[in-house]
Amino acid sequence: MRRGVLLVLALMLTGTAAAADTSCDNCKVWNTPQKPFRIFGNTYYVGPHGLSAILITSESGHVLIDGALPESAAQIAAHIRELGFRLEDVKLILNSHVHFDHAGGIAELQRLTGAAVKVSASTATVMKTGGVGEDDPQFGTVANIAPVGNVSTVADGEMLHLGPLALTAHFTPGHTAGGTTWTWDSCESARCLHMVYADSLFAAGADGYRFSDHPDVVQSFERSFTRFTALPCNILVSAHPEFSELWGRLQRRDQGDADGLVDHNACTRYVGVMQRRLADTLAVESTPRR
Ligand SMILES: [Zn+2]
Repeated sequence: MRRGVLLVLALMLTGTAAAADTSCDNCKVWNTPQKPFRIFGNTYYVGPHGLSAILITSESGHVLIDGALPESAAQIAAHIRELGFRLEDVKLILNSHVHFDHAGGIAELQRLTGAAVKVSASTATVMKTGGVGEDDPQFGTVANIAPVGNVSTVADGEMLHLGPLALTAHFTPGHTAGGTTWTWDSCESARCLHMVYADSLFAAGADGYRFSDHPDVVQSFERSFTRFTALPCNILVSAHPEFSELWGRLQRRDQGDADGLVDHNACTRYVGVMQRRLADTLAVESTPRR
């Protein structure tokens, strides 16, 4: 099972070298339509099936996290409307990390909603130009994104407020330099749960990239793992939904377990898989070649 999961993750996050139009090997599968649904309280899943996008709603406006692929933007917009919300009420767009499969749709979603985009400084630099920098382990293999116009920055640990909403940015670099995990609370009546939207913590590099030659990146990962493990975590959704077993948990809920999506150990398990991936990658790098 573990090996199977890792193989799937590896296939998903490597070998995705994409043309400028982001017609990557996995894009069509990632963009498979998904009916939007309420996760808990005011938190909704609005992404396609293979790439998460999360809407957090309030009477003072809504927050959208991630825009998936460029070709996902229309689907995400349709999902927001299908749930009964107005695009122009989306006031803020956030991002996990600035690769084309999570940030590619943001420029179009910003155009459709008029929302402000707030991201880490490193992510903002990439968004302004559209291309990742040489500090990205996948530099040279990830497609550019459409540049995003109106971007401002958020600091590590900063809490963003929109009416009653309060979301906290936790920088989780490693997969990218500007990767960010987001937390907030959602409530149903008097019951409030800690929500976590996980950035990718998966060690993936371009062909020939060696993490062992970049101890700073390895240290970033290790700090991110520690940081992530400490987050209060009742419902986890990761940028790639299957990394946090979202569909299995949703199935449990659909089959009658009202708390099917709640998993207090999900964050620890998520980090465990990512730690093993990094350790395995470093082990392979240190194995002498014949
Ligand atoms: Zn990525």
